[in-house]
Amino acid sequence: MLGEVRQDDLYEVWETLSEHNLARANINTLTDMIVCPGFDFCSLANAKTLNIADAINAEFDNLDYLYDLGDIQLNMSGCINACGHHHVGHIGILGVDKKGEDWYQITLGGSGREDASLGKVLGKSVAADEVPSVLRKILETYVEQRTDEERFLDTVRRVGLEPFKEKVYAAAH
Ligand code: SF4
Repeated sequence: MLGEVRQDDLYEVWETLSEHNLARANINTLTDMIVCPGFDFCSLANAKTLNIADAINAEFDNLDYLYDLGDIQLNMSGCINACGHHHVGHIGILGVDKKGEDWYQITLGGSGREDASLGKVLGKSVAADEVPSVLRKILETYVEQRTDEERFLDTVRRVGLEPFKEKVYAAAH
């Protein structure tokens, strides 16, 4: 957040931020993520996180689509210490090490807000290059299952994990 910007300077500030890809109006959407620094900057990490965040940003760069999906909180941690609070993300991603390779466990249904809950593990972890496509399957399932007024979290709570599992793991095999 930038505080105390003079109104006359707002356009110039926005232009400068835009040049550095820092002016996307994605607040409270999927790509407004909370991500810990992971293996690139943390000696405790099991897996990288910043490359996964980059891949998610590249896959989901259409703001109209993000606005249609609505309020989604994605949290990612590079190890079980959970500095990214992945347990309470509507979508949580936890990096795990499997024989020296980065894999990612997905949880759904968490919330760190007043309707607090812990996310539940979707299924077996997925490889790094699969994370964006797995997220797309999860979001497609949400769009198929949601009612007009439901947020992502509401739909997960109503239908449970099964429809999401079916889509993600059927697609993976
Ligand atoms: S969750 Fe793990 S990898 Fe991420 S900052 Fe905390 S200790 Fe480091």
